[in-house]
Amino acid sequence: MLWKGGTGTRRHFLHAGAIGAAGLMMAKASSVGAARAADQAAGETKEAKMAEVSRARLQITSHSDRQPWTRFTLGAATVTVVSDGRIAIGDPKKWFLGLKEGELEGSLRDNFLSETDTSLAQNVMVVDIGERRVIFDTGTGGSPLIGPTAGHLRANLDTAGIDPTSITDVILTHGHPDHVLGLADPLGKPVFPKAQVHISETDHRMIAGDPNPDDPFAPELKRQISAVADRVVMIGDGKEVVPGVSAIAAPGHTLGHMIFAIESAGKVLLAAADLGHHQAVFTRHPEVNFVADMDPTMMVATRKRLYDMIATDRLGFLSYHFPFPGIGHLAKAGSGFTYIPASLDTV
Ligand SMILES: [Zn+2]
Repeated sequence: MLWKGGTGTRRHFLHAGAIGAAGLMMAKASSVGAARAADQAAGETKEAKMAEVSRARLQITSHSDRQPWTRFTLGAATVTVVSDGRIAIGDPKKWFLGLKEGELEGSLRDNFLSETDTSLAQNVMVVDIGERRVIFDTGTGGSPLIGPTAGHLRANLDTAGIDPTSITDVILTHGHPDHVLGLADPLGKPVFPKAQVHISETDHRMIAGDPNPDDPFAPELKRQISAVADRVVMIGDGKEVVPGVSAIAAPGHTLGHMIFAIESAGKVLLAAADLGHHQAVFTRHPEVNFVADMDPTMMVATRKRLYDMIATDRLGFLSYHFPFPGIGHLAKAGSGFTYIPASLDTV
């Protein structure tokens, strides 16, 4: 009868407490005032502690139990977004340039994000459309220059049940290493051995030509694009790349940077590549520059024009670097935009 005994003890304790309260009633008024002041002080301390906790915000750094892919239908097409991981860039002030004092920090703070530690997701899209299976970009390929948080595309394609030999087309949105270096394995064998590789002529020239000695990625970019040299097809602005997938020039980030409209049975989704690198900063401040923009002024004009189109036409889009899976809409907000992620149903 331990439980009953316990209850008896508790009752006894409450009774003693009641006597204690009665005793307090007889105490001097000044003592009551002091007790109230002490209570108030304790309350303020508690509030201060809560404020401290809320200032710390929610910092989720690992999703170890999270499925690294998601799949949905777009008309008669099937879209699978597969994560390559994320690039840990650290201090965003070194990467997001050209804003006025406090604007960068304000955008991050207002979105409950760290002002000193930023990551960019790597969202690769596989689209089954008609007879084709198209992959948009190839991740970092595990490049040590980018780091171990990215380069997980191969493993995650396996998890999603996508065999690399089933890919018919690789579309490279532009010639940067975080998009291209998953093309070939360390032995120089194409990762997608049956695929044609589509890239703009401008960016192809940039990475297949003589490596720029100032670019540490240049030799590896050249090695990878050379591994698929016999199957490269150039993308033209406004042209259909494969049936249902059309190219839209988005120059500035690189000079041959492209985004793509995917259309199936009246539904449209944009593969928006690197129009913006961060869901809070590049939307609120489309005038921001990314450190790797080849022509920042041109990129700002491109971003403003295409973000305006996405918002006005209410288009859904996938952003390569927004938080996984990077799919959502843009709403106009002041002189910029607000990113509204699509909700993902589990049933
Ligand atoms: Zn990128």
